[in-house]
Amino acid sequence: METVQDVKMNVYKFGNKTADGNSKLKNLLGGKGANLAEMSWLGIPVPAGFTITTEICTKYNEVGREETIAMIRPDVEEAIVNIENIMGSTFGDKENPLLISVRSGARVSMPGMMDTVLNLGLNDEVVEGLAKKTNNERFAWDSYRRFIQMYGGVVLGMKPESKDDIDPFEEIMEHLKDKRHIELDTEFTVQDLQDLVYDFKDAVKKRTGHDFPTDPWDQLWGAVMAVFNSWNGDRAIYYRKMHNYPSEWGTAVNVQAMVYGNMGENSGTGVCFTRDAGTGEDVFNGEYLIDAQGEDVVAGVRTPLQITKLGSERWADLAKIEEDDRRENYPSLEEKMPEIFKELDEYQTKLEDHYRDMQDMEFTIQEGKLWILQTRNGKRTGAAMVKIAIDLLKSGMINEKEALLLLEPNKLDELLHPIFDPKALKRANIIAQGLPASPGAATGQLVFFADEADKYKNTILCRIETSPEDLEGMNIAKGILTARGGMTSHAAVVARGMGKCCISGAGALKINYKGRSLRVGDKIYHEGDWISLNGSTGNIIEGKVATVQPELSGEFAEIMELSNKYSKMKVRTNADTPKDAKVARNFGAEGIGLTRTEHMFFEVDRIRAMREMILAETVKGRKHALEELLPMQRKDFEGIFEAMEGLPVTIRLLDPPLHEFVPHQLATQKELAEDMHISLQAVKNKVAELEEFNPMLGHRGCRLGNTYPEITEMQTRAIIEAALNLKERGIEAKPEIMIPLIGTYNEYLEQEKIIRNTVNEVFEEREDSIEYLVGTMMEIPRATLIADKIAERADFFSFGTNDLTQMAFGYSRDDAGKFLPVYLEKGILTADPFETLDQEGVGQLVEIGTERGRKTKPNLKIGICGEHGGEPKSVEFCYNTNLNYVSCSPFRVPIARLSAAQAQIKAS
Ligand code: PEP
Ligand code: MG
Repeated sequence: METVQDVKMNVYKFGNKTADGNSKLKNLLGGKGANLAEMSWLGIPVPAGFTITTEICTKYNEVGREETIAMIRPDVEEAIVNIENIMGSTFGDKENPLLISVRSGARVSMPGMMDTVLNLGLNDEVVEGLAKKTNNERFAWDSYRRFIQMYGGVVLGMKPESKDDIDPFEEIMEHLKDKRHIELDTEFTVQDLQDLVYDFKDAVKKRTGHDFPTDPWDQLWGAVMAVFNSWNGDRAIYYRKMHNYPSEWGTAVNVQAMVYGNMGENSGTGVCFTRDAGTGEDVFNGEYLIDAQGEDVVAGVRTPLQITKLGSERWADLAKIEEDDRRENYPSLEEKMPEIFKELDEYQTKLEDHYRDMQDMEFTIQEGKLWILQTRNGKRTGAAMVKIAIDLLKSGMINEKEALLLLEPNKLDELLHPIFDPKALKRANIIAQGLPASPGAATGQLVFFADEADKYKNTILCRIETSPEDLEGMNIAKGILTARGGMTSHAAVVARGMGKCCISGAGALKINYKGRSLRVGDKIYHEGDWISLNGSTGNIIEGKVATVQPELSGEFAEIMELSNKYSKMKVRTNADTPKDAKVARNFGAEGIGLTRTEHMFFEVDRIRAMREMILAETVKGRKHALEELLPMQRKDFEGIFEAMEGLPVTIRLLDPPLHEFVPHQLATQKELAEDMHISLQAVKNKVAELEEFNPMLGHRGCRLGNTYPEITEMQTRAIIEAALNLKERGIEAKPEIMIPLIGTYNEYLEQEKIIRNTVNEVFEEREDSIEYLVGTMMEIPRATLIADKIAERADFFSFGTNDLTQMAFGYSRDDAGKFLPVYLEKGILTADPFETLDQEGVGQLVEIGTERGRKTKPNLKIGICGEHGGEPKSVEFCYNTNLNYVSCSPFRVPIARLSAAQAQIKAS
């Protein structure tokens, strides 16, 4: 069995069925290096090579080139000798040369983000030797020109000088093709290739002032350092930011003997998957090309062929190619090289069995010999992910816990929302990008005003930002697009709740309401123009893109069942309507963690009574308006309780600042004045009076209930009467009344008193009672600090991490979009704290609040209802902090359920 060195080394060799490392050393050897070592142990034919560790990369960044080379030179020299011995050729030798590749490899795969150099070790003399050895002059010179081209670009900086320029080497090749009246690279003669090598080297000399390096060792050190440098290239940095990978990881460098797929008809190269990455179907599949190098398969110049006969037949069927034609001109590898196919098939089974996950492999056939160049866990769609996990579980390859850990919770999203037809997406023209605020796909005609959302059959509502007044229009539109706002902006929160596709904060959009148009760069889109949104990526696409509704498979249900089995933390939902509550319950929500009552007031028949309440100058006037609202609220709550029969429902008392409910446009103000029989001026005065500099820190939350206790009374009455009405119908309601935005003990006490008095009043009137709880949001830092005191009275806490984040950071939820992108770009913040809970700071407040609350009441029920309640990393944090539940928007419930199970499995 494999024995891995205990002492950490700088360079790890592999090849010939043995290796210094293995797949457990991913952090040190990178994913590619660790898997090459592992494959070598498994007896799979990998070209011999070695890996320089990620720690050397980090060291290089500290001490620079010379010191790094001095440190690793003896190890690298020894490792090259090892390759020479295994491969039977010599680096730099003129008769029997060894050529090598130098590739990056971080601990996670970062496709195309870093640099690679192939065919290294060639110079004017070695190329002659290669030609003789292979008896293929063309191959030798083609390899040489490819090497100079690649090395020149990657190591010597021979890149286009401006974005209008083309690659300097491509320019030389184009020039020669023109001169020779040819079109394809394959048409170059040996003489052409020799001329190209000469011209390439000349261009290098002219541009860099130095000769192209002829010493293979100089070439090798240059390439190694270039790969290290590429870890800090723009592409890699961008990719790291996107995925939140720390820069400290560094990249390893893999140096390996070259093998060639372009040495004639018995050579080839390809890529294959142990299962279907799109559907998860358990079929070996992939593509290959005869007489080609790796990049030819991806470059798309030649059409690759299918590896298996089955795949080939399916492909031909789609491409409408007759069987005879297929067999003759597009044969599968299985038919063309049955022996090689058999061997490859053996390896793919062995690798999947070994890694116990779907593998994505690269291979090369050199003159009838198969080499495996790479294997890694394959990327897959959400649907494939679920199917593969369940299939592997059923086959006995993995156990239940491993099946759950194989899943990426966020990818479940893809299964729950309409998606773009993958075929249509290939042709999509992306015009701008925003934040992927709410996933799914939407396609529709542009409208710019919420009240025009029904102007066409399918619309995309495009706003600078949305407000609660837009709610109805948002509900009608197929998708929502805003130029401003972050992941917790109004549009984002509401859209997620609705399970509606939304892109927010697309700063490149210049919206002109007057002109009913939208400008992106110098292109203008008008109302009625078709546009498509990919809420999962944030891509804004020109025109119509076909969508398809994903189907929920039996495997999905099995995953959810397993999640429950392994998770003691509950998952509730944030839902404001019976419809949302039902959706969430279908997804497995175990109650409601937050009903935001304000959303109900925006419906047409309610907003009038609400405005009347706000405009009233006296308590009596207010009470009158509230009486009108009472039956409507009661009905809302009945619907929600019914949908959640038998499960707890947390209802939060009114929270937002009142100005959100009054009209801000002159025309609507006029209407309101007429309707209320008061002067326009009186309406304007009221609107002005409600205006606040910092409404998010202003007259909202329990400050409303404490200044207008009649609002608390009405809402409490509506909740309790609704619950009693259901009781009469034999339906169990479990209300939990939640007070928002508590900062002091007395604020809580005052509200609680009103609530309990009102409840008792209703109980007396009805001569009946029910169980109910009174508790509070924990969303002001001060409240978390005095949680022990508040817990003396409160039955439960729910962390409102949206406000808690806002107030802990001092970043306004409404305005943070102006600077957060820059902060993320510059690395001042590593993640948007409104999206992923800031465990370092805000997390401490959650821990303190929990600890102090439970000091007073050891069994205090505690949950979270901020947007973080459905984000996997934050869910894990909540589990580790011992919260009883997380609550999230309906469509995030499955994600939270899986995340909760994963957190528990990891912790055990
Ligand atoms: C919160 O602040 O986290 C919360 C859930 O309440 P809202 O987003 O409605 O302020
Ligand atoms: Mg809040």
